[in-house]
Amino acid sequence: MQKIRMTTPLVEMDGDEMTRILWKMIKEELLLPFIDLKTEYYDLGLAHRDETEDQVTIDSANAARKYGVAVKCATITPNAARMEEYHLKEMYKSPNATIRAILDGTVFRAPIVVKGIEPTVKTWKKPITIARHAYGDVYKAVDMRVPASGKAELVFTGDDGSQIRETIHEFQGPGILQAMHNLDSSIGSFARSCFNYALETGQDLWFATKDTISKKYDHTFKDIFQEIFEKEYEARFDAEGIEYFYTLIDDAVARVIRSEGGYIWACKNYDGDVMSDMVATAFGSLAMMTSVLVAPDGTTEYEAAHGTVQRHYYKHLKGEETSTNSVATIFAWTGALRKRGKLDEIPELVEFADRLEKATLDTIESGTMTKDLALITSLEEVRAVNSEDFIKAVRERLE
Ligand code: NAP
Ligand code: MG
Repeated sequence: MQKIRMTTPLVEMDGDEMTRILWKMIKEELLLPFIDLKTEYYDLGLAHRDETEDQVTIDSANAARKYGVAVKCATITPNAARMEEYHLKEMYKSPNATIRAILDGTVFRAPIVVKGIEPTVKTWKKPITIARHAYGDVYKAVDMRVPASGKAELVFTGDDGSQIRETIHEFQGPGILQAMHNLDSSIGSFARSCFNYALETGQDLWFATKDTISKKYDHTFKDIFQEIFEKEYEARFDAEGIEYFYTLIDDAVARVIRSEGGYIWACKNYDGDVMSDMVATAFGSLAMMTSVLVAPDGTTEYEAAHGTVQRHYYKHLKGEETSTNSVATIFAWTGALRKRGKLDEIPELVEFADRLEKATLDTIESGTMTKDLALITSLEEVRAVNSEDFIKAVRERLE
């Protein structure tokens, strides 16, 4: 059999623990036999991040900008326990945060919908993709415990010394205060990433805030989205037959629950944090969620939404059998290969990505799945398999 040729390398970001084990199996069983795989390899495994003092993470993000498409394995975000476990020189930042800061991107999370794993919400037939703004608001807020009665003011001092001042509240006793911010530039990048992703995937885009109550803060989000939409995207949306739709956040929540799915829901930072867990859980499983980072310049990085599955890795190290779900990691690869194929005009690569996804879903729909899915499936004839046998079953179908 002739292997599919690639012209531009994918930026490959390897990772940690159980997902690193799955990564290797996926490459060996599902990719290398079929594709003349071209990647520029970056080892973001924690040991190598430590050796390079995290330079490798920065280099990998710059390579993603250079080539346009990356695929990333889950990685450990160091904490105190990891400092000891890996004898780290420093408590490095989350690689995802580092990469996101360099690419200035927005994260889109979408469930992989498969027969036999039914959403809790009966009307949902198609995936709902959550786009979460990744900068500012309550995540960069300053807050304060007010000790006693007194006056709280919000003051802005311009570089020329001029001031804008507002009274927040005249406290009669103790209370609490919080001040948060966002940037027109960041909101604009967020908007463009969402509009681009809607065009790329042919889905409607919904956006919601509480602009009736937050008349300057949330209203600015609404205005920036609207202005960019009208100036840069409206004609292309019309041509694609897709829609940009703005509403209030509470109305959006009600509409989402009544909907069939099949659109992108853009959320402010905090709303996205909360709603993405709601949507992921209601669709069935964290192991069936993909995550795509899209930068305003079009750079795209694909990964699974889950972590390194540490508990399974420790079992694996003890020689015990694991049944870790590799679907989201397989879909990270297919997403990246499809994108590379489209950019480089290699239809065989796009078609291979489609076939690999279909083989993966058909395997589950025919009853062969990992334990996490076997526990929640509505199918009756189920064969729960280990990590490796699932990937081998997909390989058989692919062939
Ligand atoms: P996790 O890796 O997502 O796993 C949490 C639990 O969810 C697992 O113990 C397992 O439950 C279940 N699970 C998740 N993915 C699964 C899969 N593919 N197949 C089967 N079950 C799956 O989260 P964690 O254990 O809290 O975090 C481990 C490490 O991952 C941390 O060091 C964290 O920093 C990192 N992390 C990385 C990313 C990323 O790179 N994007 C994201 C999140 C976390 P059972 O144990 O009940 O089987
Ligand atoms: Mg959260």
